[in-house]
Amino acid sequence: MPPPKPFNPDYDPTDLERGWLAGFFEGEGYLGLTQNRPRVAINNTDLSLLERLKRLTGNCGTIRPTKGNKLSVKQLWHWQTNSIAEAHHVINLIYDLLSARRQAKADEIRMLKPRRAKLERGGKCINGHDLVPGNIEEHPKSHSIQCRICVNTRRRARRAEKNLTSVA
Ligand SMILES: [Zn+2]
Repeated sequence: MPPPKPFNPDYDPTDLERGWLAGFFEGEGYLGLTQNRPRVAINNTDLSLLERLKRLTGNCGTIRPTKGNKLSVKQLWHWQTNSIAEAHHVINLIYDLLSARRQAKADEIRMLKPRRAKLERGGKCINGHDLVPGNIEEHPKSHSIQCRICVNTRRRARRAEKNLTSVA
């Protein structure tokens, strides 16, 4: 399998594509907060619809198979993102087209903005790497923003250390 494409917020969908996205979320989607984390998700039996959603949002989120209704014969697919940056991107694309009820949920997610302030200022990590999409990871527990270059460097250093101890 090819490596997953990184989130690319520069992809600019047309108004028609935005309308399609908004309708999809309005009819099938979930927007909300789970333990102060955004959750933007859609289930569907048609994998191609979720793939289109992913493409139009600049590769936001991940798609995986999921168990649906026991009575359902068809395989159910689940698309979801818990990333604040990705959730904001999806919401920004469709906000003006959503119903008031969905907009209220979207507003709750938008309140999470301060955490991303350093990214929106075009920040750099302590080693001077640009914290731009593609070089950003969220810490799995703290959800703080990490520089991917630095994370990988630390991982390599830890692995090297481990190898040394196992040889010794
Ligand atoms: Zn760095």
